[in-house]
Amino acid sequence: MIFADKDFPAATRETVAAFCRRGRLPQSILLTGSGAKKREKAATELAMAAMCEQPKQDGQPCLTCDACRKIKAGAHPDVIRIEPEKDRKTVSVEQVRRQVLETLWIAPNEGKVKVYVFFGAETLSDVIQNALLKTIEEPPAFTMFLLLSRSRDMLLPTVLSRVTELSLGDELTAERKSREETELRLTASVLEAFCRGSEYELMLACAPMMKNRALMQKVADRITVTVRDALAGDAAPPLSGCEREAILLSATFPTSTLLAVCEVMARISARANANANENLLLSAFSAELAALKEKTE
Ligand SMILES: [Zn+2]
Repeated sequence: MIFADKDFPAATRETVAAFCRRGRLPQSILLTGSGAKKREKAATELAMAAMCEQPKQDGQPCLTCDACRKIKAGAHPDVIRIEPEKDRKTVSVEQVRRQVLETLWIAPNEGKVKVYVFFGAETLSDVIQNALLKTIEEPPAFTMFLLLSRSRDMLLPTVLSRVTELSLGDELTAERKSREETELRLTASVLEAFCRGSEYELMLACAPMMKNRALMQKVADRITVTVRDALAGDAAPPLSGCEREAILLSATFPTSTLLAVCEVMARISARANANANENLLLSAFSAELAALKEKTE
């Protein structure tokens, strides 16, 4: 089942299922919102739906035929990626002419259709968008256009009126959510290693924060909140999102150690904020925690 992502709006998922059942996809589709990775995944799935050699009864792509597998691997010759070339921030007019306009009437190599995927459609200049208008409106029968854009706002109204728009959800919400999940996961694994283990385990748990000072600061702050949850016990509602780890902390350490953890984290957070050397910061993160653990034992 394609477009099964629970974060996608229900209306979008239903629309795509209906396209599949009907056995026909619109030739020009604009995918907006969510994050860049999800937009790319959605585009891949639409390309499969358009090219699958053995679609299921409900029109869904099989995901296992030659075409589906090549598309998934990014190796299908009839899926054409249009994205900024090396050392460029945006797609150039010359590139659109060469990759799109000059190849438009050439039949697909092996697929049923040729799919042009425009990454970062929000960065396409007005000149390019205008150059594509006629093509998007009346593409050759064997072509399909997928425009991937952060939002619809950056596209010309004339383009918007010629595409079928599929919203994948609010980009900010999706990005924030995935950032928060990463922070929570890291906070939990660092604290578990702290409660359980050796300095080596702590180092492993801290490793994903390498070269990411902002993440380190966030995790340090979340650890502080979790420790406060541990200190408060049942007296206050938990604020950290790491309830399990809070319970583990209060079961493992005396109050004095927990207070010391808060001090260490405050120091790390301040240094991360002050642009301290990232490698030193990361070793401080695990080494100072490990030292506290040792002191307790
Ligand atoms: Zn297939």
